[in-house]
Amino acid sequence: MAHLITVELTDTKKTKPAEDKLGFGKYYTDHMFIMNYEEAKGGWHSPRIVPYQPISLDPAAKIFHYGQSVFEGMKAYRTSDGQIQLFRPQKNWERLNKSHARLCMPPVDEDIAMEALKQLILVDQDWIPEEPGTSLYIRPFVFATEPLLGVASSKEYLFIIILSPVGAYYAEGINPVTIHVESQYVRAVAGGVGNAKTAGNYAAGMKAQEEAADKGFTQVLWLDGVHRKYIEEVGSMNVFFMIDGKVVTPALNGSILEGITRDSVMQLLRHWNVPVEERAISIEELYEASRNGTLQEAFGTGTAAVISPIGELNWNNDKLVIGEGRTGQLTSRIYDTITGIQNGTTEDPFGWVV
Ligand code: PMP
Repeated sequence: MAHLITVELTDTKKTKPAEDKLGFGKYYTDHMFIMNYEEAKGGWHSPRIVPYQPISLDPAAKIFHYGQSVFEGMKAYRTSDGQIQLFRPQKNWERLNKSHARLCMPPVDEDIAMEALKQLILVDQDWIPEEPGTSLYIRPFVFATEPLLGVASSKEYLFIIILSPVGAYYAEGINPVTIHVESQYVRAVAGGVGNAKTAGNYAAGMKAQEEAADKGFTQVLWLDGVHRKYIEEVGSMNVFFMIDGKVVTPALNGSILEGITRDSVMQLLRHWNVPVEERAISIEELYEASRNGTLQEAFGTGTAAVISPIGELNWNNDKLVIGEGRTGQLTSRIYDTITGIQNGTTEDPFGWVV
């Protein structure tokens, strides 16, 4: 389906950063996509690609006061034969619209979003880095712009896509991280917005993350907000454990974000005939499995790092080391396979690549 996306090209291209200095989310490409929603004008209108630029908003815009804001995160890769690949982008548009539904925001036409994304990437394709492990991070986001202080859902929004060339997440290969099991703060509760990708969830997590970092831990393992007992997520990643030859991950219970990497890992494991279970996992179960020698591997999953091995949990001053602090065999195999499919070096039997 062709949509009329207008394109205004910049006449002042930026200097591109060196590929070994990219880091994460520090540089932005020359253009961005933007589209308005105004209920009074019949919905979404004026889809356009324009030079990357600041936006101006009314100080009363609802985003600043009531936080109606959702975002997505995905990546584009340049393959060795020069093609540009996206990884399951349709799943991101589906999740964006699920987040919209939860925050009373109007749905975005997924075909327009996909076409906007493809056109924007083509316009800025020189920005896709080529070094191993690098990619072009894609950040679509939507927020409320109606200048009205009444607490009710906004009748006006902006949908924007920006692109950021990012470096290899792990400069020296994947290494296990140390985790603080959080028993004071909670990220989200079932019935709330934990399963929506909305900005406030990340604000809610910062205090625990800062305190954990002060104690020398890399990430926080979130427990459920009701029993303070069941595993939810690790930092802003989903989490998996291998116990006694079986892989387990917390079931989607309403407070966990439905990760696209999570779904991909489960499909891959089933394809390999490795048993996978989605169920409630208590923190005691992990310590018990560690004591009886059946806790074999643990890792987080998410778009940014893809797979992040967990070497150590710390819960109420009780330290639990997993796999002698080394990356597990299955963890490495999953990492190599998924990153290989994403960058085009491994065959994609699932039809994930676009
Ligand atoms: N949980 C949270 C809270 C996240 O922000 C993310 C990153 N989007 C994930 C899990 C992992 O999701 P995905 O695999 O789709 O990146």
